[in-house]
Amino acid sequence: MAWRCTGTTNTELITNMAKNGIFQSTRVAEAMDKVDRAHYVRNKKDAYMDSPQTIGHGATISAPHMHAHATQYLLPYLAPGAKVLDVGSGSGYLCAIFHHLVSSESEGKLGKVVGIDHIPELVDWSIGNLKRDGLGKHLDDQNIEMIAGDGRKGYESAGPYNAIHVGAAAPTIPAALVEQLASPGRMFIPVGTESQVIMQIDKDVNGAVTEKELMDVMYVPLTDREKQF
Ligand code: SAH
Repeated sequence: MAWRCTGTTNTELITNMAKNGIFQSTRVAEAMDKVDRAHYVRNKKDAYMDSPQTIGHGATISAPHMHAHATQYLLPYLAPGAKVLDVGSGSGYLCAIFHHLVSSESEGKLGKVVGIDHIPELVDWSIGNLKRDGLGKHLDDQNIEMIAGDGRKGYESAGPYNAIHVGAAAPTIPAALVEQLASPGRMFIPVGTESQVIMQIDKDVNGAVTEKELMDVMYVPLTDREKQF
């Protein structure tokens, strides 16, 4: 149960998530422990609640247990050195988690995380959040890149991506995102309008694409900028 995971510090939140069996991988728990959620919310008092919170502009930072699930499904494709695209990057929280998974300074392998959101104010805020969380150097070095734009088109110039996360529900799966998946690669995307499911889209080494439904969810829509609010 999600609410049981709420803590008073970031480490307590992660510890409670572990106690409640949210993590199948210590890699995910360790990455989430490195990212203080307080840097990515509007109200610091809500930072360690295991619930979604509004971040303005019609957007929401997802509940930490949902971020853990998303990361876990993508984990086989988040090896050090991998490239990741986060569509609807909002607060930048998940970009920070992905960064810690794909960039390993001890192994000398730096991956790349691209976050894209169509609200420029959120992109600017997320860059500030990442800097406050100590990731300014990785923004400068473009190991993390935060882009303002329509995520339904992806971001071809930095692709193909081993993993694509979509943080807003698409009425249909955007073809550009499937094209920008590496072979092999995996996408985690909520699909639907009134009722939504997470779809896992896999592209194999030969480029063959398969789809699998994972779970029912409720996300904000992946939409036109003027329709959000
Ligand atoms: N995963 C983020 C935000 C989730 S809310 C977090 O946890 O902080 C969904 C985000 O998708 C919002 O920030 C919204 O602005 C963005 N979004 C919606 N439609 C979009 C589109 N067409 N292109 C890019 N971003 C979009």
